[in-house]
Amino acid sequence: MGQSNFGDDGEPEELLDVTEERCEEIITNLVEEDILDWTTIAKEMLQSLQPPQTATHVPQLDGLRERYERGNRWAPSRRWMYSQYGPCENCGKITSINHDHIVERDILGDEADRLENLRFLCRRCNQSRHWENGNILDLGTAAAVMYLLFTQKPKTVKELEKMGRQVGLTQSNQRFEETWAFAMYLHREGLLEVDEIHPVIDEDELEQYREYYSATKEYFKELNTRLRQEYPEEMSIKNNLELLVRGRKTKVEDRIDSARGLGILDDGEVEEILRDDTKLTDGQKRTLLEAVGTFTDSEIRDIVNSRKVSLYHVLGSDQQDSVIQEIDEKMEEFQNEYLK
Ligand SMILES: [Zn+2]
Repeated sequence: MGQSNFGDDGEPEELLDVTEERCEEIITNLVEEDILDWTTIAKEMLQSLQPPQTATHVPQLDGLRERYERGNRWAPSRRWMYSQYGPCENCGKITSINHDHIVERDILGDEADRLENLRFLCRRCNQSRHWENGNILDLGTAAAVMYLLFTQKPKTVKELEKMGRQVGLTQSNQRFEETWAFAMYLHREGLLEVDEIHPVIDEDELEQYREYYSATKEYFKELNTRLRQEYPEEMSIKNNLELLVRGRKTKVEDRIDSARGLGILDDGEVEEILRDDTKLTDGQKRTLLEAVGTFTDSEIRDIVNSRKVSLYHVLGSDQQDSVIQEIDEKMEEFQNEYLK
């Protein structure tokens, strides 16, 4: 790799050379420099060859659920799958393949959910409309910026950004800082040489924050275990409720079990909701939550929108207060200790 050969007259083609030879050299170098190992590479590549989950995803598309009766959705999806499975229709790549709507749901809504309107595209082609400057020579944005980091070895985040702009990356400045934060990690591990730690935050300050966050991380790990143990009943309410609000994403039998766990199976209205194998409407979810516990309006909105219930949602307000008070006090202690 050697010295940076970046200059104002550097052409994007030279900066991002993706010939087989060059790519082999880059990956081999990353392994030799202990930034990557072959096991990781193999795992990542094998995983990215795994086809998309047609069986769980396609029959559950809203439009397909409307078009086909329950129990009759997989057969047509399977026929489509066997007749279609293959590389990206756009670029021929066989890794990271996704289902793609040819006419998007933005245009046709549920009517876009037709097997005839589905195809396989790789993740990169799927997202390609977000790139202002086309293909960036066949690399995605994320790959291109890492390519620059490892081959051009910029010494500062500004230099990295300048190179990125030159090859047509239109991402925000902050995204280059994300790459730089990773470069900082490599630098600390002695895996990459850079001149600049950070243009704004100095090294002592960063060191303080590293210690601070490593201490708080330990505390939160312990708290995570402790809260599960301290509130076993509330945890079970949380888990049962979550299954219920996830609606059609949960099997009917599991929902009925959850309702039984919450002791609400006899409530006529709720029972009807549970037995109905269609998507729970937001209104139905609200009814459920009101039947089960005392939630504030904002908690109900939160749960309905996110389809997730936290232990915190389920705790009474006194319990909520005492948890937050403990966390606040602990954070103050940590701040006093580490961030002087
Ligand atoms: Zn593609």
